Amino acid sequence: MSTRIWNLAYQWLEFVQFRLLPPTCVLCQRAGQPGRDLCLACELALPVLTQPCRGCALPLYAGAGSTLCGQCLQGHTHVHTTVAACRYAEPVSMLITRFKYQRQLAAGRTLTQLLLASIDARYRGHNLPELLLPVPLHPQRLRQRGYNQSLLICRDLGRALHIPVDPAMLQRQRMTPPQQGLSARERRHNLRQAFALASSWQCQRYQRVALIDDVVTTMSTVNEIAQLLQQGREQALEIHLWCLARAWLEPAGQA
Ligand SMILES: [Zn+2]
Ligand SMILES: [Zn+2]
Repeated sequence: MSTRIWNLAYQWLEFVQFRLLPPTCVLCQRAGQPGRDLCLACELALPVLTQPCRGCALPLYAGAGSTLCGQCLQGHTHVHTTVAACRYAEPVSMLITRFKYQRQLAAGRTLTQLLLASIDARYRGHNLPELLLPVPLHPQRLRQRGYNQSLLICRDLGRALHIPVDPAMLQRQRMTPPQQGLSARERRHNLRQAFALASSWQCQRYQRVALIDDVVTTMSTVNEIAQLLQQGREQALEIHLWCLARAWLEPAGQA
């Protein structure tokens, strides 16, 4: 069976299982909460972001006088706001590995539900983005994996929040080596001209767009895409970033 058909069959089976079977915790296999494959005890033990920066979601030092970190205050990021469901640590990192590399879609769906709750809390009284864009995979990597995990997150969020998703607007035009293990400077270099936009982007008049990714570590990818989206536009465009987990390179934390 080709990878594509195998993936479709697998996703269909997963969907049927999700609809028909009672929720089961993806971590301890005990009964989950209604509509969620996670029990309350495991949910309460997940690594959270304490006092995250509103701009980039890095932890602020205790007693920081602002909701933005030093980097964001100085305008070093092109992102207006970041929402992350969790801190990237066990067992979240394990769930993301299962979701990304072992086709365990329930793990991704469960983290997406947590992300939805964080979005709900952050945007109370504020306008939501008008469009969701998944961070794309290179076509070759997409063929190998069979699915883009960011697009799956995007579709769940789009359905729940009634926001359109455009999986074709942004493309990865260059195969880049994995970012893992690279310094912040190497990551930026690695991503140069890695992305391209569909020509129809120039006719769009969106004011707020959200980029969706599974894990964010340095903002290099997102900043690269944000600059591309803002290029040549007369109108202001806010880039929002939503991700399942926020990781960072040491040293942790920002003033
Ligand atoms: Zn559990
Ligand atoms: Zn920040």
